[in-house]
Amino acid sequence: MKHLPAFIDINERFVLVVGGGAMAWRRTAMAQRAGARVVVVAPELVRDFESCLAFEHRARPFDASDLAGITLVYVACEEDPDYETRVAAAVREQGLLVNVADRSDISTFIMPSIVDRSPIVVAISSGGEAPILARMLRAKLESLVPAALGALAAFAGSYRDRVKELIPDIARRRRFWERVADGSVAENILGLKPGAAEARMEQLLEAARQGLDVEPAGEVYLVGSGPGDPDLLTFRALRLMQQADVVLHDRLVPDGILELVRRDADRIYVGKKQGDHSMQQQDISRTLVDLAKQGKRVLRLKGGDPFVFGRGGEEIEMLSAEGISFQVVPGISAANGCAAYAGIPLTHRDHAQACVFVTGHAKDDKLDLNWQALIQPNQTVVVYMGLISLAQVMGELIAHGADPKTLVAVVDKGTRVDQRVVTGAIGTIVDAVEKAALTGPAIIIIGSVVSLRDRLEWFADEGDTGSVTRPG
Ligand code: SAH
Repeated sequence: MKHLPAFIDINERFVLVVGGGAMAWRRTAMAQRAGARVVVVAPELVRDFESCLAFEHRARPFDASDLAGITLVYVACEEDPDYETRVAAAVREQGLLVNVADRSDISTFIMPSIVDRSPIVVAISSGGEAPILARMLRAKLESLVPAALGALAAFAGSYRDRVKELIPDIARRRRFWERVADGSVAENILGLKPGAAEARMEQLLEAARQGLDVEPAGEVYLVGSGPGDPDLLTFRALRLMQQADVVLHDRLVPDGILELVRRDADRIYVGKKQGDHSMQQQDISRTLVDLAKQGKRVLRLKGGDPFVFGRGGEEIEMLSAEGISFQVVPGISAANGCAAYAGIPLTHRDHAQACVFVTGHAKDDKLDLNWQALIQPNQTVVVYMGLISLAQVMGELIAHGADPKTLVAVVDKGTRVDQRVVTGAIGTIVDAVEKAALTGPAIIIIGSVVSLRDRLEWFADEGDTGSVTRPG
């Protein structure tokens, strides 16, 4: 290890910044975040300094007398390396710590890349060798560490003394904190429900007072996993996927996403192909309830968004009735994902001022849709579950007066590597889709926005077999 990692308390201490440019400003702001009093020595300052808290400005070059009473020094005068070298030498001579921006050779300390979830701070250093790599790692961590982790640490801190007093035994106390960090207390803080977290914490403390080990409280996460590309998961979805004890998934969730679920979580396939209901809705709800009552963290993973044709509402009704805590994580719905990856904006000032999502799932072979509303001009219609009933949907639209030349795109396995898009018009799309032998899942996008795909297509799409026919 080339440098000693350490966090320095500079609250109310004096920090000297030599330089008045953008980097000097960043150093000033950072030192102020840690509570330092800053003295800036530079003939001129960039305007950014106006956004800083109060600091002392000495409008002249550095002088050794500036070091009196100073704890550490930042130098950032990249336009004059010789000056930087002289200043750094003067500082070192006084035995003070000095950092010169981008010059680890003459610095006695270097600045890490940080992930700030105060009071938790992660600092990453490459020893000055490859700052870019440190920054990349930092970006990764930023996306993995929940935004509210700091709030969780502060919450835990506020209970520290009470817990210590209540549970003197170190091993038991550690188990207690593990339960807090791993269970519904933490999840409530991260889910921005501090009241619920406090109530649960009091329960845990009460149990500890009675010398009991508390049962973990089960909970359910209803999570939308998006249309298929794993990169389209939300940070929260990924976090909950990685802490679930058991996952219930169906056909719409591809393997690439299932692989991201905690490895040792139990997997339960609940099917749901049209017509083949491996598990009835009621049974799914019942299973969620039973597993949660066993203290499990249950992940119900759904394709797209759980509240868009996902029966998510039905699945959690029973949870609510049974008093089981749950949260709902939105996902990118197939319409949004497919439209983006097919290069078809759902709304556009020249084409569509409205967008309607409907289901093409027929009940007893009958489609119960408001056809008059669907043939209105200047709107886009997106049909979910419409591949099987495609001919029926197109037939009804024509029967209700739609122009057969209205453009249509069918997006099959949208956002996935094997995405295929077939385009045509209301009058021609059935043949085109038949020829392409699409297998689904697929959505149908109807409206003149489909013409924009000609210019906006960007996603690799070698299987594209259709062509856009323009009306008129
Ligand atoms: N809750 C989901 C929809 C579930 S209904 C969501 O918000 O996306 C199932 C239908 O969604 C499928 O029949 C199909 O129409 C559509 N669908 C889901 N994933 C899709 C994908 N990757 N490409 C195209 N359509 C998809």
